[in-house]
Parts: sequence; C-alpha cells; structure tokens
Amino acid sequence: MILMNDFQREPSELRQALLHACEAVINSGQYILGGAVREFERRWASLCGSREGVGVGNGMDAIEIALRASGIGVGNEVVTTSMTAFATVLAVLRSGATPVLGDIDPATGLLDMESVRRCLTSRTKAVIVVHLYGQMRNMCAWRTFCDEHGLVLIEDCAQAHLARLEGVTSGGFGNSGCFSFYPTKNLGAIGDAGMLVTNDLSVADRARMLRNYGQVERYRHEYVGLNSRLDEIHAAMLIAKLEWLPRFTERRREIASIYYSEIKCRGIENLAQPQEPEAHVHHLHVLRCSKRDQLADHLKRVGVQTLIHYPLPMHLQRPCLGFARDPHGLRNAEEHATHCLSIPCQPMLTDSEVFRVVDAVNSFRSI
Ligand SMILES: *Cc1c(COP(=O)(O)O)cnc(C)c1O
Repeated sequence: MILMNDFQREPSELRQALLHACEAVINSGQYILGGAVREFERRWASLCGSREGVGVGNGMDAIEIALRASGIGVGNEVVTTSMTAFATVLAVLRSGATPVLGDIDPATGLLDMESVRRCLTSRTKAVIVVHLYGQMRNMCAWRTFCDEHGLVLIEDCAQAHLARLEGVTSGGFGNSGCFSFYPTKNLGAIGDAGMLVTNDLSVADRARMLRNYGQVERYRHEYVGLNSRLDEIHAAMLIAKLEWLPRFTERRREIASIYYSEIKCRGIENLAQPQEPEAHVHHLHVLRCSKRDQLADHLKRVGVQTLIHYPLPMHLQRPCLGFARDPHGLRNAEEHATHCLSIPCQPMLTDSEVFRVVDAVNSFRSI
C-alpha cells in the first residue's frame, strides 16, 4: 500500500538525530520551558520573519491563544472558512468568541473574500484565513481587507510551514500566525506541539502568560489561562527535524508537479496549480472528481491510500448546526466536501511510487 504518511521510512540520520535530541533533554534535567523551547521559538520565528515565537501545546491552542492575546473573546465574532479542520472553529469557541462561517472559492478551496464580506456585522473582530492544503494566496488583499474593516487577521498556518508569497513567509501577513507541529504536518513533532508567531510584542507577552495558567510571575495569575506549554522534548526534536524541512518541502513540490503534469484521467482534476510555486508547500495534494467515492475505492483496490479533507464542512458538523454563516449559503464548501480526495504526497515517496499513483488514477473508469 502506498501510504498518505509513512514515518517509519524517514532517513536513519534523522531518526538518529531525534534520539540524540531526546537524550540531551533527558540529560539536561529540564523538561518544561527551558533552553530547547527558547531556541526553537527563536529559530522558528526567525525562519518565519517574525519577531516573536511562543511555543504552545498544539495548533488549536495556538489559535485560541492568538485570539485571546489580541483581546478577542465573549461578544466578538470571528469569521473563518467552513472548509477547515474542526480545530480552527473549536479554537474560536474556546476563546469565548462566536464563529461565523464563510464559503470557499471553488477553484482553490480557500476562504472567499466576498463571502466574508457578507458575514460582517458590527460585532466582527477578526478573520482567520486558513492556508488550506499548504496554499497561500491573496494575502496582501486579506491584509488590506482587514485593515479597512478594523479587523484582526489570524493566519491558520497548520498546513503551510514556510510557504512564501511576495517575499513574506506564512504567519507574516497576519497579526499572528498559528502553527501546528502535529506529526503529519509538514514539520511534525513526535506528539502534539504548536507555536504562534507575531510581530506584536504585547501579543507575544500575553500569549506567554496565557499558555502558562495566565501567570505573570510565579504564583501570580492575571488571566484565566491554559496549560499549553511546548515540551522541551518536542522542541529539541523539532530543532533536529528543522534541518530536513527544506528538502522535504522540495520533494513535496516535485511530487505535486508530477501529478499536475501526468494525471490526465477525464473527470478528474487537480486542485488549482499555484501561480507562484513557493506559495504552496503541498501539505496535501487534492483531486476533485464527481465520482469521488468510486475513485477512492478504485485506488484502494490497486494499493493507494487516500483520505478526504474534509468530508463534512464545519457548518454541517453537529455542534455547529446553528452557527451564523454566509446568508447566501455555503454551497461551494458543500460541493467540495463531496468531490475532494487527497492522494499521497509525502516526501518519503519514491518516483516509482509517485508514477504508480499516477497510473492508478489514470486507470480509473467511472461506471
Ligand atoms: C492540524 C490543523 C489544526 C490543529 O492543529 P493541532 O495541532 O492538531 O491542534 C488547525 N487547523 C488546521 C487547518 C489543521 O490542519
């Protein structure tokens, strides 16, 4: 089976470096908020071109903390896309704010600005733009849109590590950028981990308090915070993995470019190609097909694993059924959810496996 993720095939040099990193943390005797976290925060923020990085427990907490550190909470509305991971919406709920769901541009799967415009009310305080599948588009337009309407712009960068658009790295357009280092992400820990990056020192300060029980100094609590610290052991392993990220991203790009040029089956389309190659880090390669479930069955039969990102848009998830949304409806998100199919695009794939995936897709005959 050609798998969507295959960590066991990672290079032995990388595995060795991870083991050394673990050993160094164990030998240091410092397991929480020590030197490795500070070092990884400094390195990740610098790669993102941001002044500050605040390591947290996971990507969802990064979004909650970014919202709360920007002063967003009860009584405020936050507009985001219905085509995202549930964590994006859950983070808004946990901040106390009210999520409002916008529709997507069918060509890219990304949040549609006209839809967001229809979602705005006097209570709207922020927009969360999700760089879905690793694509970053239109960010100058989003920055201008948010500035014109006095809104905080949060980037959900969980799928777009070090994507670059017009010289700016993911996380650099928004007031904050929120990363997940969940194992399957382009940069993944050996467990849960996350970070928010920002150029706003007051947001960074508040985020540091919020992740640590809302504590301003030892045993003095100014906020109702979280326990959402990045562990030393994950920070140390992420530092070790960081060295491999450029190579892995390059490999994802090579695989995607083979798919763009070689997948030719009628009725199957690759999601929009990036105009700027660097603005897509190919976390996922997504096909669309009106016979999606048959295509997935066919691929499984010939030994190719697939996944669906995502089979149910947020507004159709049970806890979200009553949520405010684009008054025109969310038809593009609904249609995308029934047509999208993610095929393997992970950096461990060999060329021959990539061509086997191509042949498998091209041999699909819908009945
Ligand atoms: C993975 C993901 C998250 C959540 O990250 P966790 O680390 O799992 O909490 C949020 N948004 C998107 C778009 C994601 O893909």
